[in-house]
Amino acid sequence: MKIGFIGLGNMGGPMAANLAKAGHEVSGFDVAGVEIDGVTSVETGPAAAEGADVVITMLPNGSILRAVADTVIPAMKPGAVLLDCSTVDVDSARAVAQQAKAANLGALDAPVSGGIGGAAGGTLTFMVGGNDEAFAIAKPLFDIMGQKAVHCGEAGNGQAAKICNNMVLGVTMIATCEAFALADKLGLSREAMFDVVSTSSGYSWSMNAYCPAPGVGPTSPADNGYLPGFAAELMLKDLRLSQQAAEAADADTPMGEEATALYARFVEDEDGLGQDFSAMLLRFEKRGRG
Ligand code: NAD
Repeated sequence: MKIGFIGLGNMGGPMAANLAKAGHEVSGFDVAGVEIDGVTSVETGPAAAEGADVVITMLPNGSILRAVADTVIPAMKPGAVLLDCSTVDVDSARAVAQQAKAANLGALDAPVSGGIGGAAGGTLTFMVGGNDEAFAIAKPLFDIMGQKAVHCGEAGNGQAAKICNNMVLGVTMIATCEAFALADKLGLSREAMFDVVSTSSGYSWSMNAYCPAPGVGPTSPADNGYLPGFAAELMLKDLRLSQQAAEAADADTPMGEEATALYARFVEDEDGLGQDFSAMLLRFEKRGRG
C-alpha cells in the first residue's frame, strides 16, 4: 500500500519503519524534521497524504490532530482511510471522523497500548473505532504494527476503550503503591507482599506484570531507576482524558477523579515529571498520613 505517516516521534517513528520494512511505500512527515529508515521524508502533511491509500497520524493530542486533519483531509484521495493512532479525546476523534466521512474518506481511531517497546517490536494492541469497511482496509497494517486489533465499534470507541483501560491502570497502580508503602510500615518484606498479593485477590497487571517495587516480581521500570516505561505525565494525560469524557457523559468516576488529582500533584508539584508512572511508590514511601 501507499501510506502517508504523520508524526514520527517515539511511537510513530518505529511504527512507520515497520511498515516500510514490510514492503509498503511510506511517505513520512514530522514538524521536527525526523528521518526514519526506509521512509521517504516529505515537507508537509498534505504531501505525505497525496495519493496514499491510508494516512496514519501519531500525534501528541486532539487539538494537533484536528489541525493536521484540516490540512490533510482535502489532500486525500476519495476512498482512502485516515487512521489516527494517537491517544486523544473522544470528541476530537469523533469530529475528525465526521470530517473525513464528509470528504468520502474512511476514518478509524485506533489508539494503542504496548508503549515504545511494542511500537519497535510490532507487538502493539490497537483499540479501534470506525466502520467495518475502513477496519478491513487497515487490518493488514495492524497486523504488521501490532499483535492484536480489537474492533470496538463506531468512531470514537477506540479512544473510549483506551481511556477506560488507562483509568483502571492509573487507579490500580496507585492502589498497589499505597499498599506497598503500608506493608513497609507494617514490617512486611517486599518479597512476601508481592508473593501474596500477586497470587491473591489483590492481583492486577500493576502488581503482577509491572511491579512498582524494585527487586521483586518481573523486571519493570522500578528495576531501572524508574526510567519510563510509561511516563507519569502520559498517565496524567490519559487520566485527564478519562475525566473529560466522564464529565461530557455525566458518568460518576470518583476513583478516576482521585487518581487524576494524585498524578497531577505528582507530575506538577512533586518530582514525578520524567519518571515512570510506577514511581508513585516513592511518593507514598516519603509520606505519612498528614
Ligand atoms: P512524541 O512526542 O514522541 O511524538 C509525537 C510527534 O508528533 C513528535 O515527533 C512531533 O514533532 C510530531 N508533531 C507534533 N505536531 C505535529 C504536526 N502538526 N505535524 C506533524 N508532526 C507533528 O510522542 P509519542 O510518545 O510518539 O506518542 C504519540 C501518541 O501516542 C500520543 O498521543 C501518546 O499519548 C500515544 N501513546 C504513547 C505511548 C508511549 O509509551 N510513548 C503509548 C501509548 C500511546
